[in-house]
Amino acid sequence: MQSKPNILLIYTGGTIGMIKDFETGVLKAFNFKKLLQKIPELQLLDCNIETISFKKPIDSSNINPEKWIEIAEIIEERYADFDGFVVLHGSDTMSYSASALSFMLENLNKPVVFTGSQLPIGDLRTDAKENLITAIQIASLVQKGKSVIHEVCLYFEYKLYRGNRTTKINAEHFNAFASPNYVHLAESGVHLNVNSNMILQRISTKKLLVHKQLDNNVVVVKMFPGINESVLSAIIAIPNLKGIILETYGSGNAPTDDWFVSLLKKAIKSGLHVVNVTQCSGGSVNMGQYETSSQLKKIGVISGKDITTEAAVTKLMYLLGQNVAPSVFKTIFETALRGEMQ
Ligand code: ASP
Repeated sequence: MQSKPNILLIYTGGTIGMIKDFETGVLKAFNFKKLLQKIPELQLLDCNIETISFKKPIDSSNINPEKWIEIAEIIEERYADFDGFVVLHGSDTMSYSASALSFMLENLNKPVVFTGSQLPIGDLRTDAKENLITAIQIASLVQKGKSVIHEVCLYFEYKLYRGNRTTKINAEHFNAFASPNYVHLAESGVHLNVNSNMILQRISTKKLLVHKQLDNNVVVVKMFPGINESVLSAIIAIPNLKGIILETYGSGNAPTDDWFVSLLKKAIKSGLHVVNVTQCSGGSVNMGQYETSSQLKKIGVISGKDITTEAAVTKLMYLLGQNVAPSVFKTIFETALRGEMQ
């Protein structure tokens, strides 16, 4: 008889484990052990669950690269002992964290499923139980002795997504996430249906590599009509700045004003990496399709294609941390490393 899968539940914080401060009415993170007592159903699952918690659980607005490293190290240290990992995380920045972890964990051969909830687990109408229970079931899926999923995913409101393709779209609905440019990997209904041809294929039997160098000397600039030269030049002049994610219009378009193009051209010449992502929620950058993007292409702006801003920011931090040579940086950025772009 095959033994039950071993799942590690990593609690970082988020609404799922919060309670209301009865004096102020504010939601605050609380003790993880108490959280588990609220879900006796976990005992019924066909897997062994172990838990580990951040010493001080956080609201995910306080997540940062150091805490991503903490999550990565928990997985690294226990990688051999577990068949799957479920990361309980606040929904606000979950897409950033899932994206970051996807780049940090190279040669991943086991599932890492991020989940959380919009209402605390103690709330009568909570969405936490379904999210947590199904996330654990997904992390436990095994076929012929091997994990079905081997990538960093995000499970929320009946759908499993590739983590680095997601974005938080709603602060009210239980259906809080979307993956506008990549179909979901699985759906939970009466049955748990896995979209087998959309999941990352097992890439290698190579050892897990955990990348812990992330360089956060980056900035996101969202284009808007009226952005002016002094604003953009002040941003470009930030000491130590190494990369800009430029959120452009439509399929990667931006003003054709001389000051704008020449500022970017000078910045790129001096070694700054400028990545073009669209501020539309779906679709792709296609520099050269319009006159308003062909200049960007000419001066060496990197195409983010159909990447999300969340994945672009974390990919930039990851590649900068890897000290990728300037001559190949653009090519590597434009290559899908973990299924984050087309
Ligand atoms: N503010 C919370 C957080 O991201 C929201 C949530 O958990 O859904 O930690």
